[in-house]
Amino acid sequence: VLESKMRTGTESAAVNGAAPEAGRLSNGAEERPQRFAFSAEPSMEDIRRMQAEFTDERAWNKFHQPRNLLLAMVGEVGEVAELFQWRGEVAEGLPDWSESEREQLAHELSDVLIYLVELAEKCRVDLPQAVLRKMALNRLKYPASKVHGSAKKYTEYKD
Ligand SMILES: [Mg+2]
Repeated sequence: VLESKMRTGTESAAVNGAAPEAGRLSNGAEERPQRFAFSAEPSMEDIRRMQAEFTDERAWNKFHQPRNLLLAMVGEVGEVAELFQWRGEVAEGLPDWSESEREQLAHELSDVLIYLVELAEKCRVDLPQAVLRKMALNRLKYPASKVHGSAKKYTEYKD
């Protein structure tokens, strides 16, 4: 979905029933109703190192080949999906979720990220730098001036 649509928070706000035209900023971007930011730490390299230590201490490297890590990550994505299953559409910020449901989600999203980072390490992909390159490509593929407010795939746009 990320590859084909590059969905953003503003888009999900519209899905959640917020007025999509509300709060247009002077640069043409939409103002998000509620700001949210991650903590600065740990970095992706911190996560890679912590997981490498965890794996080394347990002599689990013999199990952590790329294909196994991929399958483990997909399994964890399934655990995230289970938490959303049968709920219908869920509003941004998860206003109807209990604290323990939010914590469960935090655990499962972390499992996905930890396996993703370890998979990238074992495949020798420098993930933070790869993200920078991919975001640059995505900006070229989806120029804001051309795709503003549209969810079309890049192949559907005509010059
Ligand atoms: Mg899990």
